[in-house]
Amino acid sequence: MVRSTMEPRERRSEALDAAALAVLDGERMRELAAWTALTLETASPVPFGAEILNTRTGTQLMRAHNAVAPEHDPSSHAEVRVIRLACKKLEGFSLSGYTLYTTCEPCPMCMACALWAGLDRVVYGATIEDANRFCRQIQIPATEVASRSDMTCTVDGPIEQEACVALFTHPNMQRAFKTWSSKR
Ligand SMILES: [Zn+2]
Repeated sequence: MVRSTMEPRERRSEALDAAALAVLDGERMRELAAWTALTLETASPVPFGAEILNTRTGTQLMRAHNAVAPEHDPSSHAEVRVIRLACKKLEGFSLSGYTLYTTCEPCPMCMACALWAGLDRVVYGATIEDANRFCRQIQIPATEVASRSDMTCTVDGPIEQEACVALFTHPNMQRAFKTWSSKR
């Protein structure tokens, strides 16, 4: 009897938490997409931006863009970079207690890096399929990489997909893709 009176209230509060988190996810992803869009006016436009926040407080720890071209490094995806920079800042290798937001679903390399870092949660905007319309991709969903690991990491997305896909379809980005070796 006690259970039956407690459960609905607990469920309501969980539902409220989920609704509040969905609003926050949307706000954060739109903000990240806007920040990433700043690159579209530079000499090295990229549609890929990532940010790490404290899961509990929402405090921003670090953010980064994809820098494969300027760094001459095929592993300089936004997610790998932001994880490296965040770990350097914390002077540790664990990002347990943190959430990663990224404008595009992490590729297998980036999702593996997120799992090795012990991130609580990964939230993405555009999907690998969206990105694949414009550049080559490895067709393994982030959820599959996570599910086949021994680590626990929640993967949520797509969130604000339209705003994130707009980074790919922007005329400046479309012009830049023509110079990419990984163009479709
Ligand atoms: Zn990647």
